[in-house]
Amino acid sequence: MDVRTVRKDFPILNQRVNGEPLVYFDNAATSQTPLSVLDAVRSYYLTENANVHRGVHTLAERATEHYERVRQKVARFINAETAEDIIFTRSTTESLNVIARGFGDQVVKAGDEIVITAMEHHSNLVPWQELAMRTGAKLKFIELDTEQKLSLASAAEQITPRTKIVAVTAASNVLGTVTPINKLAKLAHQVQAFVVVDAAQLVGHQPVDVQKWDADFMAFSGHKMLAPTGIGVLYGRNDVLQMMRPVQFGGEMIEDVTRTKTTFKCAPLDFEAGTPNISGVVGLGAAIDYLNQIGFAVIEQREQKLVNYLLPRLREVTGVTLYGPQYEHTGVFSFNLSGLHPHDVATGLDMEGVAVRAGHHCAQPLMQTLGVNATVRASVAFYNTIDECQRFLDALVAVREFFQNGIS
Ligand code: PMP
Repeated sequence: MDVRTVRKDFPILNQRVNGEPLVYFDNAATSQTPLSVLDAVRSYYLTENANVHRGVHTLAERATEHYERVRQKVARFINAETAEDIIFTRSTTESLNVIARGFGDQVVKAGDEIVITAMEHHSNLVPWQELAMRTGAKLKFIELDTEQKLSLASAAEQITPRTKIVAVTAASNVLGTVTPINKLAKLAHQVQAFVVVDAAQLVGHQPVDVQKWDADFMAFSGHKMLAPTGIGVLYGRNDVLQMMRPVQFGGEMIEDVTRTKTTFKCAPLDFEAGTPNISGVVGLGAAIDYLNQIGFAVIEQREQKLVNYLLPRLREVTGVTLYGPQYEHTGVFSFNLSGLHPHDVATGLDMEGVAVRAGHHCAQPLMQTLGVNATVRASVAFYNTIDECQRFLDALVAVREFFQNGIS
């Protein structure tokens, strides 16, 4: 892969911010969108725009055909058994809420257990907290080990015959930790619990195979894998989708309605009430094509090269405390700079043209585990360069010196 050629597909990267060349290291919050995705959305509006699943006219048929073609593409992308296992949503957050409400309410009863991990994003935590409150179930946490990886010993302890749902992130949005999903799925399925995977931080970086994982449900967002915002995916194996109830009602999802009673379409359409984000689905399809064209072998190799460069050097910057594992690290780096508030560090980096995120990263319980209120987070993607990594490290030193000199 020639990174200079690839970067031509992302014109947004080629600009100055505060007089400096932009270094976009906020990919864990949202990824950038290549021209082919923008072109696909534009072309859809120029030639196909119509509502899906309703009209018999040619444009409506074209739009419907395109929408359903992307459903098949998503199924192949995550190795789902059939396209009927793919539900289009707004985001990971919506997918997880639908699972907790539509499925959780069906299977979780008072006294049951819902098991999540100590490193969940709020969107894979709060819906389960709410479900536990609604049902009288207990919410339990799998802890991290000293390496800040998921402790399988803790998983074996927390998952018991009372466990009904095990909901885990595939990759932490804070620590750069990857979760051994198959091992957790094995533990969960031994006690007939259902496995929900939040794959928001993994999709787009590594190939995903829901069958290999043996996941019952999986959620991800398009905007973290080069697609536009506002489109997400809920994967559910056909047999578990049969157990899930719709949580939104209205047009498109019904079979037959009388004044007193309604019958619904079959999955996945019964979970897609109202006019969906059709152009978002078109963009998602184009993003999958783009990722496949580069290939995950190349994407992984490229991101690993950036990680191998950053990990030892970031740790060595004077004053830096880096969180997360020592090795087997994704391109997400959370750290603090001694004596400085993360927001000051992020603002200082922005002055140097470097875009990072500061805050609790929607993982407040994890922050409490780490004993901090917030961190700075830098996150890379395959279109970033070693030169940008070095500029980020230099900018970090410049920020530290600026504040030190300012204070003394
Ligand atoms: N889970 C993880 C691990 C995430 O990183 C994010 C996004 N920060 C989400 C869930 C939520 O994604 P969205 O905001 O697109 O719903």
